[in-house]
Amino acid sequence: MTDIEELLLSRIRDVADYPEPGVVFKDITPLLADPAAFTALTDALARTAERTGATKVVGLEARGFILAAPVAVRAGLGFIPVRKAGKLPGATLSQAYDLEYGSAEIEVHAEDLSGDDRVLVVDDVLATGGTAEASLQLIRRAGAEVAGLAVLMELGFLGGRARLEPALAGAPLEAL
Ligand code: AMP
Repeated sequence: MTDIEELLLSRIRDVADYPEPGVVFKDITPLLADPAAFTALTDALARTAERTGATKVVGLEARGFILAAPVAVRAGLGFIPVRKAGKLPGATLSQAYDLEYGSAEIEVHAEDLSGDDRVLVVDDVLATGGTAEASLQLIRRAGAEVAGLAVLMELGFLGGRARLEPALAGAPLEAL
């Protein structure tokens, strides 16, 4: 493990049985409260944005916003929020996806992405991959290219990486 990986991992708190029994919640608030760890994470993700030739950084609501916004500033790129349905005031594109029980929907402002864009998607945790998959579909439907998906943490046992293969279509998935 690299020094950065060790630092980041040490600042993530496992909370058992939250928000429901059987789930281990990965709490990133200790990392956000530590300027050295938050800076190291931001720098690593900004290098990914540069390496993948991204022109925009998308953050997934809500913790993805906190991580993606400083990455966009550091890399000199625009930040685009992908929000839960009903939160964006302008004309939107929507993408529904299935949850374990029921379904969810995410949206992006249609005018925020164009055919000239290459988009890096940033989120805190990749679990089943459903949220990330819907965001990649949204980006492609907006006419933009997917530069990659970058997450702080991947819960490998949930198989998100395999599920995302078609949606990534060769674009990199990086889990720090
Ligand atoms: P999924 O769509 O299943 O990949 O879930 C990913 C989304 O749910 C991300 O936006 C995460 O913030 C959140 N999430 C899922 N599982 C966890 C977990 N164990 N700890 C913290 N966040 C999680």
